[in-house]
Amino acid sequence: MNRILQIAQLGNPILYQRAKEINDIEIESDFISDMKITVADANGVGLAAPQVYEPKRIFIIASKPNIRYPNAPEMKPTAIINPEIIWTSEEIVNDWEGCLSIPGLRGFVPRFKSIKAEYYDENGERQQSIFDDFIARIFQHEYDHLNGILFLDRIENTKDLLSEKEFQKQILTK
Ligand code: ZN
Repeated sequence: MNRILQIAQLGNPILYQRAKEINDIEIESDFISDMKITVADANGVGLAAPQVYEPKRIFIIASKPNIRYPNAPEMKPTAIINPEIIWTSEEIVNDWEGCLSIPGLRGFVPRFKSIKAEYYDENGERQQSIFDDFIARIFQHEYDHLNGILFLDRIENTKDLLSEKEFQKQILTK
């Protein structure tokens, strides 16, 4: 039986610690299914295990257009386990991000435009992939969660923070 998991909110200590490597991917399969259901239910495009109170090096990328991210590209929800970023582009781009653990706030966050990563998929296969643009942004955001880092730690100026209401008004309707 799959279930929707509770999402830890800004200030919870679980969001500020380094998550632990996974040794046995097979036993995580129910948890990974629960995470996929949870991120879809919350209109997220990504979710990291520490956000659902599990300090494990697992996250889901589940980009698709929704009310929070109308322009997100569509992709199959993908579990990323024990990831490592092994290359980053020189180019850095700023764009707006939100976080299911920081409701009501958006930040204009600098991220590498492209990254190359190694990780295990949910079948335990080692993968190496290049991610670009919005998917690379999600990857870097979720990867940060595994190291106890939030997008608030990445913004360069408090003026790069907007309330959700102002984001909808100023950015989405542009
Ligand atoms: Zn987040």
